[in-house]
Amino acid sequence: MIIPNRNYAQLKDSYLFYRIAQKTKAYLEEHPGTYLYRMGIGDVSLPLCSAVIRALHEAVDDQAVKERFHGYMPECGAPFLREAVASHYRSRGVGVTADEVFISSGASDELGDILDLFDRSCGAMIIEPAYPAYVDASVIAGRKIVPVPATEENGFLPEPDEDLEADLLYLCSPNNPTGAVFPREKLHKWVDWANRRGAVILFDAAYEAFIEEENLPRSIFEIEGAKTCAIEICSLSKTAGFTGTRLGYTVIPEELERGGMRFNDMWVRNRTTKTNGVSYIIQKGGAAVFTKEGQEQIRENIRVYKNNARVLMDAFDRLGIWYTGGKNAPYLWIRCPGYMGSWEFFDYLLEKIQVIGTPGEGFGACGEGYFRFSTFGDPDDTKEAASRILDLLSQ
Ligand code: PLP
Repeated sequence: MIIPNRNYAQLKDSYLFYRIAQKTKAYLEEHPGTYLYRMGIGDVSLPLCSAVIRALHEAVDDQAVKERFHGYMPECGAPFLREAVASHYRSRGVGVTADEVFISSGASDELGDILDLFDRSCGAMIIEPAYPAYVDASVIAGRKIVPVPATEENGFLPEPDEDLEADLLYLCSPNNPTGAVFPREKLHKWVDWANRRGAVILFDAAYEAFIEEENLPRSIFEIEGAKTCAIEICSLSKTAGFTGTRLGYTVIPEELERGGMRFNDMWVRNRTTKTNGVSYIIQKGGAAVFTKEGQEQIRENIRVYKNNARVLMDAFDRLGIWYTGGKNAPYLWIRCPGYMGSWEFFDYLLEKIQVIGTPGEGFGACGEGYFRFSTFGDPDDTKEAASRILDLLSQ
């Protein structure tokens, strides 16, 4: 008899976006035709840049010509893209080789798949509030989860504690949902903790391109010692608008090994077994992101989201409302005013000013009392939403 993976029964309902959709639908049924200002959106709103579009078109044309046609691609990624990613790291002073870069179809896939490298008995430490995939992927894999609460007191950036018992640690910086970014010294403490314990850090750098302060680390490999304790998972989704196009990359250092086994070799074996690579066309589009032209163009798009962030930050600064994020991240994480609960604040904004955000409680219990605003929306909508928030909360 087939025994299902009973871990699925342990998953909590992912009710956050469902509940938001239900509440929004109910509101629109009561107030037909009302325009809503959607500040909860986690998807990008700007199109791919022209350098990427041109590369995609050229790659499609290649597929029409016998001499330039590509069938299966190498499972770990096309050499041209692995090299482009590696030299992008090197241009920022981070020594990464093409063999350490694995091309993926996005960070979400990798955040769960990467767990294949570790024995089932290895528990996963997750700093909460957290991007829900860390918890869910670990639950499906039947792993013990060690939640580490992040709080306003530690700026949503907790430090390691020698009593913490876990073998794997998910770190996300800039963070979704809090927008908090680990400064170099704090990240160093986690790297030292992991090296001391023999733990492995799974570093989610999906939002690294939003860091504007020079002294903040955009890669964990900027920290001395990280190559013996970390894997970095990255994505072009938010960096370059690839949410629908799908492309990411994972860096596994050659030096990273435990128990005499090298994780880079193991991942090569894993990929050659479990994937047949990412499409040639998409990888060509991805390579264009790392050209000089591509970098300039994606920066223009990021600047639009950053202006949205500034508009929102300005409103919360004027209101004296505490928040993290915004400056170096595409999310703002605010304390709900007047000690409102996060769903209560959601209802209040929807009813009074037709603004939709994301209740912090949906990212874990310690998100209660907080609220996430995204900066990926339309600039005019963001300005209007900020002005409505200012009017409402300064009353
Ligand atoms: N990691 C974080 C923190 C995210 O917020 C997201 C998407 O929102 C992802 C990973 C997933 O990225 P991708 O689109 O590459 O799967």
